[in-house]
Amino acid sequence: MKSNDELKCVKCGKWAKPNTIRLEGFKVRGWKCQKCGETYLHPGDANRVLAFNKLKNEVIKSKLSYSGNSLIVRIPKNIVNALGLKKGESIKLALEGPNKITVTIS
Ligand SMILES: [Zn+2]
Repeated sequence: MKSNDELKCVKCGKWAKPNTIRLEGFKVRGWKCQKCGETYLHPGDANRVLAFNKLKNEVIKSKLSYSGNSLIVRIPKNIVNALGLKKGESIKLALEGPNKITVTIS
């Protein structure tokens, strides 16, 4: 009997084992067939990559707000979901010019 975390390969009928798969720079959960090498993506993770691709060339407006004495940047929910961001996650800010700050999730 196979464990629940294995997936039947549609291509060859053998069992695909859980694996981390690289997709357009993302590490996504999925399965890889041990026999034929076919890969299957986790649906939730694949949707996150699709959401990212939909947003990646858009300019998304947001506003600065105060939290105590600090200004905070509001990141819209669609970006939060596409990148899988969580409250408390560390970021790095880099000043690139008088009107440009880049935010890197670290
Ligand atoms: Zn296979």
